Amino acid sequence: MRKPELDVHQKKLVDEKRAEFEARQKQQDAFAKSHFPDGAQLCNKCSTAAVVMMDGCKTCLNCGESKCG
Ligand SMILES: [Zn+2]
Repeated sequence: MRKPELDVHQKKLVDEKRAEFEARQKQQDAFAKSHFPDGAQLCNKCSTAAVVMMDGCKTCLNCGESKCG
């Protein structure tokens, strides 16, 4: 199974989103083993259950896809 390549900017964005999410949830190891938080929704872009709600936007912590509203 081929994973979509993330460019450098996108990787940085995802890292920042993860760090922010972990800080908020106080789950420093939330993603330590490629586990995503309970309640995370399936991303329709990368098909990973890594979509969480941040600032009113659904944000995928795997590929950086986000949808607001
Ligand atoms: Zn995704």
